Amino acid sequence: MTEIIPYPSPNYAERLPGSSIKYLILHYTACNLEMSLKILTDNNSSNPVSAHYVIDEAGCIYQLVDEVYQAWHAGVSFWKNREKLNTWSIGIELVNPGHGPNCSPFPSLQMESLLGLSKKITARHQIPAYHVLGHSDIAPGRKIDPGEHFDWAWLAQNGIGVYPPLKVDVEAEVPDVMTIQVLLQDIGYRIPLSGILDSYTINVIKAFQMHFMPDSVDGRLTKALGSRLNQVKQAYTL
Ligand SMILES: [Zn+2]
Repeated sequence: MTEIIPYPSPNYAERLPGSSIKYLILHYTACNLEMSLKILTDNNSSNPVSAHYVIDEAGCIYQLVDEVYQAWHAGVSFWKNREKLNTWSIGIELVNPGHGPNCSPFPSLQMESLLGLSKKITARHQIPAYHVLGHSDIAPGRKIDPGEHFDWAWLAQNGIGVYPPLKVDVEAEVPDVMTIQVLLQDIGYRIPLSGILDSYTINVIKAFQMHFMPDSVDGRLTKALGSRLNQVKQAYTL
């Protein structure tokens, strides 16, 4: 296990009464290590932020906030029947340039460190595999990290998170909007059952695709989307 380097941030608070640690939320920082640590420890900002851990591209782990406290990584967020996910979660930030022209894969040293740390955290707090989520899952439309370049499949193969094998269902039909919305809601995304393909619904579809169909993040209603939603729903409701 990689040594954990203390790098305390003043940006934290008591967890809310009645809450406990139920989720592990993964992020990218969209900037380099130095800038990431600066932003995540800056309490003069108008919007102070933090995370429990930062993992750099070489796999070094920095601890900014004790797990007892809530770190400020999720913002306005929800999953299933819960909101304000900061109080219910541990947050890990991965140093990565994120989307855009400089986007680059997450190095294997970084992923190995993430895997080791996630195993400890999920064991310590008995976090189920289907409660390991991306920021984009809990704040669709507002956040797009850790993005489609993050290897959820590898992580799940190694015991963290859920990523059912991709199967093509030749029998599948193109689903209607209401069917898609119901499936997304069953999995955990917050989405109104309007039957209307509005911009919010498209953003939630894209959030789902970034996590579970990283090669087709297009927000389109397709047979492949319908069958993938059913596969994930089954895996999430075992
Ligand atoms: Zn984030």
